[in-house]
Amino acid sequence: MPVDLDVAVVGAGVAGLAVANSLRRAGHEVRVFESADHVGGRMATVHHDGYHIDTGAEQISDHGYELTWQWLRRLGVPPAEIPLIRHGVGMWRDGRAHPGVAHPLGLVTGAGLSLRGRLDLARFMAYLARHRRDCDPNQPQDTPFGLATVAQLAERYHPDLGEFLFQPVVGGFFGWHPQRSAAAPFASLLAAVGSTTSWRTYRDGMDTLARRLAEPVEVRTGHPVEEIVSARGHARLVVGGATVTARSVVVCVPAPVAARLYRNPPEDEQRYLAACGYTPMMKVSCLLDRPLAPPGNRPLYILLTPAREERLLSGIIVDHLKHPARVPRGRGLLTLLASPFAMPELLEAPDDEVIRRLTERAERYVPGLRAATTANLVHRFRNGLPEATPAALALRAGFARRRTAIVDYAGDWVTLRPSSEGALRAAALAVERVSTQLTGPARMATTELPTDHGETDREETGGEAANRDAQRREADHRESV
Ligand SMILES: Cc1cc2nc3c(=O)[nH]c(=O)nc-3n(C[C@H](O)[C@H](O)[C@H](O)COP(=O)(O)OP(=O)(O)OC[C@H]3O[C@@H](n4cnc5c(N)ncnc54)[C@H](O)[C@@H]3O)c2cc1C
Repeated sequence: MPVDLDVAVVGAGVAGLAVANSLRRAGHEVRVFESADHVGGRMATVHHDGYHIDTGAEQISDHGYELTWQWLRRLGVPPAEIPLIRHGVGMWRDGRAHPGVAHPLGLVTGAGLSLRGRLDLARFMAYLARHRRDCDPNQPQDTPFGLATVAQLAERYHPDLGEFLFQPVVGGFFGWHPQRSAAAPFASLLAAVGSTTSWRTYRDGMDTLARRLAEPVEVRTGHPVEEIVSARGHARLVVGGATVTARSVVVCVPAPVAARLYRNPPEDEQRYLAACGYTPMMKVSCLLDRPLAPPGNRPLYILLTPAREERLLSGIIVDHLKHPARVPRGRGLLTLLASPFAMPELLEAPDDEVIRRLTERAERYVPGLRAATTANLVHRFRNGLPEATPAALALRAGFARRRTAIVDYAGDWVTLRPSSEGALRAAALAVERVSTQLTGPARMATTELPTDHGETDREETGGEAANRDAQRREADHRESV
């Protein structure tokens, strides 16, 4: 049957755009359908009145972002456009900010931890260093942490580690609840990303990568996909009431959206999709007439506010310290992060109420905030970060081994790695699987991003796993006879 396209990609976040860019370079006819009026998804930036406001993702790192850096080199983004963030993270405790979170000096200065807490942090860091090889953030199901939750991991240490490190970090950065979320993705990310001294941002906004990935690709923004159905030899999409057919479809939206759009997935894929819940995230940007920030001895890029002390906010980001080019000269920009514990009451509340409640509370940490504010913007993500529950973790290995099929997926939930690097990893896996499906294994090499060591960095595809299992069965059989 004649089809409209080789590949239809659903979603123009970094995962969908990386898939489309790779397959386009490999010579396939690819089109991306995006519901929003811009590309980037959760890695986008609003450019408003001289302010560059990151609506979702905030930073990357020199470490633990290997595929991101390969893409940036491939796309010719100069290092000067990805500067270091020169200020660190602090923890609020007992009425003041304690600098040094996730920084080598934190063990000395305390970063809000008691002496016993610091000793246990050293013990935890030593454990991570010893098990570094077993803590691959791309294989979170295989770490020594098993299916333990963040709260269960915290129980092994002094209570300070749970209350003044693990909870504020997973709550502030991922919107997670320690009792629900698995420890393995968090601990393996900590091991991979390392200290805040290597954190960087995109000078002109976190949408830089998405914009560059999109350049050679046909993207239809303002085109929400309503339905995907897999058929014999092709798949059908309904987009704005019209039907589009493709030899392959790559669904690059959060798992709950994928589960809603894809009408006839195989049962095992359906189970993983259902297990991959997301935590919501909400931010309020405060555009300021001066560069206000939380007071303290050292300027902080982020102040984390633990749930033990604060139930409405999980932290405050000082965007004008992230990079001076983010604001007009002499101005300021702060981001207030809503706490996961306040999400049930805030997620559906009108913008005015969200702004009023969060800015009123933020006065405690940044006196004078409301007087200095000239405008506010609210950013809501119902599907903020993949939660990586023990249930999802338990199903992940099976999902990664699924057979290649006409409908495939990419996105941070595929890798259970709550970051843009996780989304790009998932994209690389999807490209390989789709290439195999479209043209057979011979074309795969054209779409792989080699690692820094010149090796191919990838997970086993469903087809390869099936071949390997068949070979093993054959060998077992030979041995038994
Ligand atoms: C508040 C916040 C802070 C974060 N901070 C960081 C950070 O500092 N560092 C980091 O590395 N990561 C961070 N992340 C995570 C990072 O942003 C994501 O992991 C990554 O951007 C996910 O990319 P994706 O392509 O998988 O999904 P998305 O970016 O969600 O892309 C999916 C796209 O699909 C579109 N779409 C949805 N439904 C449809 C439909 N029916 N039809 C067509 N299109 C559709 C969406 O509009 C979206 O553009 C953060 C995320 C959030 C929310």
